[in-house]
Amino acid sequence: MSDSEESDGEGGLGNLSRLIVRPPGQSGKAKRGQLCFDAAFECGNLGRADHITDLEYDLFVRPDTCRPRARFWFNFTIENVKQDQRVILNIVNLGKETTLFDTDMTPLVRSTSRPKWQRIPRRLIFYHRSLAHRGRKILSIAFAFDREEDVYQFSAAASYSYSRLQKHLAAWEKKAQAFATRQSIAQTTQKRRIDLVTIGDYNFKEKDKDFKEETIVSKIKTAEQKKRVVLIIARTHGGEPPSSFVCQGLLDFLLGSSEKALALRNNIVLEVIPMLNPDGVFLGNQRSDLLGGDLNRCWNRATSYAHPALVAVNDLLKKLASEKTVQLDFIIDIHGDISHEGVFVRGNSYDDVYRFERHAVLPKFLGARIEAWRPEACFYNADSVLAGTARRALPTGSIDAYTVLVSLGGRRLAPRGPYIHYTEDAYTKIGKSLAKSLCDYYRHIGIIPPRVGRSKKKDRGRRRRRRPVVERDRSPSSSPERRVLAGRVLSPSLPKVSPPALQALPARLSRRPVLKSRPRTVAHADNILPLITGTAVKTPRLAVVDMSAYIQTPKEFVKHRPDKSHLRVRRSTRFSRPRFTSDEYDTRESDS
Ligand SMILES: [Zn+2]
Repeated sequence: MSDSEESDGEGGLGNLSRLIVRPPGQSGKAKRGQLCFDAAFECGNLGRADHITDLEYDLFVRPDTCRPRARFWFNFTIENVKQDQRVILNIVNLGKETTLFDTDMTPLVRSTSRPKWQRIPRRLIFYHRSLAHRGRKILSIAFAFDREEDVYQFSAAASYSYSRLQKHLAAWEKKAQAFATRQSIAQTTQKRRIDLVTIGDYNFKEKDKDFKEETIVSKIKTAEQKKRVVLIIARTHGGEPPSSFVCQGLLDFLLGSSEKALALRNNIVLEVIPMLNPDGVFLGNQRSDLLGGDLNRCWNRATSYAHPALVAVNDLLKKLASEKTVQLDFIIDIHGDISHEGVFVRGNSYDDVYRFERHAVLPKFLGARIEAWRPEACFYNADSVLAGTARRALPTGSIDAYTVLVSLGGRRLAPRGPYIHYTEDAYTKIGKSLAKSLCDYYRHIGIIPPRVGRSKKKDRGRRRRRRPVVERDRSPSSSPERRVLAGRVLSPSLPKVSPPALQALPARLSRRPVLKSRPRTVAHADNILPLITGTAVKTPRLAVVDMSAYIQTPKEFVKHRPDKSHLRVRRSTRFSRPRFTSDEYDTRESDS
């Protein structure tokens, strides 16, 4: 056993470790341009690389440990490239067919001289059924290496490793000493920490107590008042790094000095588990932990041997439930999603209408704060299939549990707007918005006192006053409708008095007299051409025109047309030996 196998546990997993992929039969020292593939690092995932031609490589995602069906996450490097070398990389064994690669999502790339992740342009990505791969859907990336000395890294999404989290938490903890504690509530099978960050104080402030003891009513209130708690869980699945970025954004926001962060820290308690599955994240798994368990399907049957993290969280919940002065309100489980755009929530359904209505309140607050929130993608259900998820298994009584899903790809701000890819910053912003909406909610129900020093009057004063529109200020060209009408009304109704030399005159001088002498144009419906509003032209509806005459193929042509099925058969015989693809091909596994 080599040294690396013992130290990082990668060797036995089947990740490629600096493998030079060359044409069959060749050996000896690698020449420039014979690509060297490597995935033997933290969060790395690539199981196999086949040389098809010097231009084309078939790549295989390494399935999760002990869970062969989970195959989506990939993260590998390529080096020993030639200047301006062009390649096609086919990822041929993805475990899910319908993903965002179908539409706009693209993988990411970075190199040693350009360490920031960049999305590969969509025109270089092809997610298609390949006859050479038994008709299965493969992801082809066309890529040109532009610098010989660089190491190129390709990944399904910007990765967020266990080490990065540990580093971030260590720095965060130092800054947040005054109001937060960090502890390890359990150890994973591979002896990694499962961190729990507690923000806020379970005790009510002494100052508040003194103030409230003034009246009998407030005395009763103090006795009844419970400290509100929110539990946030992130990164249950290794292949969903957006979850970690969102969690980081949330933690960083709570560290800040903003009024909302202060209000949250002072009035409620947030229990945050930033990484529930450190083993899976470290190993580069898509969903499972080391033993092949999908943690978001095992909450209802967790054992201390196989799921130490889940048992620890269950213990925490029991402890919270036993305390009389504490009330757990929400469990928020943050995930990434490979099939949908934007941000949305999955919740539970209840037979009691009032209970159900209350359950739908927090998502409303989230929707008001989070950019690209997609209410149409939010579902509330009680499927038996998902009985092992956190949101189904954990809540008891009045606790509301949700799965918040953030797209691995991007979002549209309007239904038909442009597609905007998510960046690390955009994810951390979602975390910030999540914290803000929690503040909104608790302010709404009176747990967090209303913001002081901000009145409505002040708001009104700040608003820009609208300048009244004076008719003479308007130039004749200010209204696009008028401009078009004047020019487009057909003769003979075009009046002769219209200013003939309008364009020749200097604009300012011409304005007023022209407006005064401008005659009223009489609108004759028959004479008016389609109105131009903006750049779009309103035309008669195309559906009225029968297009079938233009589409129908003449019968003579049909006769001479070559038989299509014949073509198809001939094409497939070109590849006499189909390339390898994994036989276990599952398309039904859902995200979250
Ligand atoms: Zn997930």
